Amino acid sequence: MILDITAMRAAPRCGAKNRAGTPCRAPAMRGRRRCRLHGGKNPGAPRGHKRSLKTGAHTDAGRAATAAEAAAREAQQAALDHVLGVAEDVLNAAAAEQRAADRAAGKRGKRGQPRKVKLK
Ligand SMILES: [Zn+2]
Repeated sequence: MILDITAMRAAPRCGAKNRAGTPCRAPAMRGRRRCRLHGGKNPGAPRGHKRSLKTGAHTDAGRAATAAEAAAREAQQAALDHVLGVAEDVLNAAAAEQRAADRAAGKRGKRGQPRKVKLK
């Protein structure tokens, strides 16, 4: 029995660059451009932007959640800034009062007197 291998010989070649730097001569996998050793089995990256949808971060809901978190952080920062501002005002009023008392008591110079407070 003699095998007819003309079809095998005519099969498209892989052509990937091997370690010797020459093209791979193995037949490409059916319907693919590379042999089994050079990625012919790998279906490749998902079509379109499926990959970016994996965690949901880039869906409408994910974007809305991110925006909501940002708004919450902003509100938190605004509240913190407000509290710091009030604390600053209270401390500065006390410092001014102390300075006035020191002035009234005849203390001279700035040394040892309460300074203006800056918290933010
Ligand atoms: Zn190959």
